[in-house]
Amino acid sequence: MSSAREPKAPTRPTSRDYRLTMYRTRHDAAVRRLAASLRGMPADIPVRLAKPGSNLFRFGGRDRRPGLPVDGLDTVLSIDVDARTAEVGGLITYERLVAATLPHELMPTVVPQLKTITLGGAVAGLGIESTSFRAGMPHEAVREMDVLTGSGDVVTVCPGDDLFECFPNSYGTLGYAVRLVIELAPTMPTVALRHVRYVTGRELFDGLAEHVDDPEVDFCDGVSFTPCESYVTLGRFTIEPGPTSDYTGQSIYYRSIRRRDTDRLTVADYLWRWDTDWFWCSAAFGVQNRHLRRFWPVPLRRSDVYRRLVALDRRIGLSRRIARARGQRREAVIQDVEIPLAESASFLDAFSRHIPIRPVWICPLRSTTATTPPLYPLTSGTYVNFGFWATVGLADGQADDHHNRLVEQLVIDHGGHKSLYSTVHYDRSQFWRDYDESAYRQVKKRYDPTGRLPDLFDKVVGDNATR
Ligand SMILES: Cc1cc2nc3c(=O)[nH]c(=O)nc-3n(C[C@H](O)[C@H](O)[C@H](O)COP(=O)(O)OP(=O)(O)OC[C@H]3O[C@@H](n4cnc5c(N)ncnc54)[C@H](O)[C@@H]3O)c2cc1C
Repeated sequence: MSSAREPKAPTRPTSRDYRLTMYRTRHDAAVRRLAASLRGMPADIPVRLAKPGSNLFRFGGRDRRPGLPVDGLDTVLSIDVDARTAEVGGLITYERLVAATLPHELMPTVVPQLKTITLGGAVAGLGIESTSFRAGMPHEAVREMDVLTGSGDVVTVCPGDDLFECFPNSYGTLGYAVRLVIELAPTMPTVALRHVRYVTGRELFDGLAEHVDDPEVDFCDGVSFTPCESYVTLGRFTIEPGPTSDYTGQSIYYRSIRRRDTDRLTVADYLWRWDTDWFWCSAAFGVQNRHLRRFWPVPLRRSDVYRRLVALDRRIGLSRRIARARGQRREAVIQDVEIPLAESASFLDAFSRHIPIRPVWICPLRSTTATTPPLYPLTSGTYVNFGFWATVGLADGQADDHHNRLVEQLVIDHGGHKSLYSTVHYDRSQFWRDYDESAYRQVKKRYDPTGRLPDLFDKVVGDNATR
């Protein structure tokens, strides 16, 4: 692996479009401001990006670390329709990115389901969606990236560079992505869906193995509602005119999967189908009650609104106090894990026996690159992502993280990997067995020699984990 190149001289604006020139100037100024702010902070003070939102599920206490300014890092700098690429600020949300690319009949190769996930966050923290069986993860579409490193320099990195390769799953501990050039994929106006039902886990994953090799399929994910009722949803772009469903109103997308064999959505509604009800998690706020739903303003049926409500609840401890008053203890089990396809039926079976959570989201994933990121080594061909987000009751004598530890053991037993956006319970040695410590240390030493940014283990594991 080679190391990063010298920072690129800022590209001179030659665009006919004054607005784009303005955005580039604003972007360059924002990068300088961010770098100056990092360099200006006392070395012993931990830092974080002052992002307006987050999709992490580690709440901890109030974060008192000074925030680095991110204004101006969330714009589209250019879209090259012929080359099918976009050059954007690292803090752009997928909502803005998709809104900018769809008019050109283009989209990011993988669009994570939650609108406020940022491109930089998805590359540094991994991402997955129903195109991942063909396009892998968001970082696989990155052609070039400017990174503000822990040493305060902005470096441009490309595939093959050590920092580039180690960046996925580094969660802002090697540096911050401030500008990215990504590949885009062509779209059509509508997505036609087919929901295929399976009764056993074995049938489900045998079926999935066939679907991911079907060239007629553009999108593939699934939901397991009970151990004997699961669905794979297959999507295909179409230009044929016809009626489309709308799940931003009274109807709820995940419920439609059990009711309908086929469906049609506009491409934008398809990409955001899970955001309106945060998959199914909006039920916790009454949003799925048909009487209450009428009064919940449509613009507020969004994942970032629900997440803010959860953050508020964690801060004031309302749910915890209600559970305690009822003599209960509950554990939040919010995780996404990757399991090799060949082990998936066994994993889901064991999961069903030990963890009382349904529905479970299922999404196949195949990497498109010859190399795999050292911090998320996926080396077994096709994987299946299992996503589960709920609280479960704890019996007397069970530790507060009983079910999360069980999940982590199941992941180890089935040769899988766990993403790090939520709570992590591994001890240090198990953690560094799963995520390649020696590759990480080398890159960390080169780009953050004084440890200005936190260490990955310290950042994501334990009670003191931070954002
Ligand atoms: C309930 C739930 C479901 C989820 N489901 C999915 C899913 O289905 N598909 C999916 O793809 N993802 C999913 N995620 C995970 C999500 O993609 C990751 O948490 C992602 O990192 C969030 O990105 P963000 O932009 O919101 O970043 P933040 O939450 O703000 O930050 C995440 C971390 O990345 C770092 N970071 C942020 N921006 C940058 C940057 N520009 N450069 C370097 N580091 C940066 C931050 O320091 C922080 O440590 C889910 C999360 C939750 C809570």
